[in-house]
Amino acid sequence: MTTLTKTEDAAAPTGADPFLSVRDLYVRFSTEDGIVKAVDGLSFDLERGKTLGIVGESGSGKSVTNLAVLGLHNPRATEIKGEILLEGQELTGAREKTLEKLRGNKMAMIFQDALTALSPYYTVGRQIAEPFMKHTGASKREGRQRAIEMLAKVGIPQPNLRVDDYPHQFSGGMRQRAMIAMALVCNPALLIADEPTTALDVTVQAQILDLLKDLQQEFGSAIILITHDLGVVANTADDLLVMYAGRAVERGTVKEILTEPRHPYTWGLLSSMPRLTSDVTELLHPIPGTPPSLLSPPTGCPFHPRCTFKAEVGGTRCADERPPLAPGRASACHLTAEQKQTFFIEQIKPRLG
Ligand code: SF4
Repeated sequence: MTTLTKTEDAAAPTGADPFLSVRDLYVRFSTEDGIVKAVDGLSFDLERGKTLGIVGESGSGKSVTNLAVLGLHNPRATEIKGEILLEGQELTGAREKTLEKLRGNKMAMIFQDALTALSPYYTVGRQIAEPFMKHTGASKREGRQRAIEMLAKVGIPQPNLRVDDYPHQFSGGMRQRAMIAMALVCNPALLIADEPTTALDVTVQAQILDLLKDLQQEFGSAIILITHDLGVVANTADDLLVMYAGRAVERGTVKEILTEPRHPYTWGLLSSMPRLTSDVTELLHPIPGTPPSLLSPPTGCPFHPRCTFKAEVGGTRCADERPPLAPGRASACHLTAEQKQTFFIEQIKPRLG
């Protein structure tokens, strides 16, 4: 375990022995152009049976964080500091053998693109059975039977026939279901779903999210749902962490963040989301500018170059001083609680309808 000087950002939700606890996590990559500060002092907890949504634009550090939890970064090019405790077991710096045993067995991942995650050379059934046989010592016959069971659980019709199909014989939605079956085959306690529905059309998206919720109830897994789309977490997650430039900028329950967001970046995410109820002529409000380069992240509040509220804080405080993220329901922003409430009610809420 590496001990770092604790930043105020490291303050995390309180609670005894969470199932997964990430404390003051830093992930840095060495590149030809310099050091990329991909995750910068991140802390969060996750309880068993709960779903944590991690939301942010590309490059906010959400996927990098979860690859660190799974131990999938190249250790030669990545520096990871902080604590990642899974049921009290420290994963930072754990040996590859230990991590390999945990992956697939205790923790598993659902990737965005099933077509690249599944091998085209093996049948779907074999790919589902493989981790089960590896972690339980089951025979080929038992593995195949388990694959059929899992395909049935994720709603694939005629699973005893489809088990012998290759991935290209499945539709996009069915491939995603097969990947969920593969991830859940060993009944992992932690499931990380990285943009699991991005490549799918809206109807299939809803089916996959419902399926995840149902399976979570059945298996009791804790889920981390990574997405850039607040609509995806609205009906699926319990708690939410909004990330920007490698840091958590807002934390709360889904209801709290969707009904009373307190950070200008979250306001931007919500305002730029198309709504089903909106008039087609109604304008979206994209966040101005682009996410910062993590080779040289902005000083102070990382959102300050794009924030239209920094003048309300006054002076150069937003550019100079990093706003901390307090424990519990919180947002990392220098605006006062009263300002956050007033600006949200007067300026942002009317846009959201
Ligand atoms: Fe905007 Fe300043 Fe708040 Fe950052 S701290 S979000 S720049 S108002």
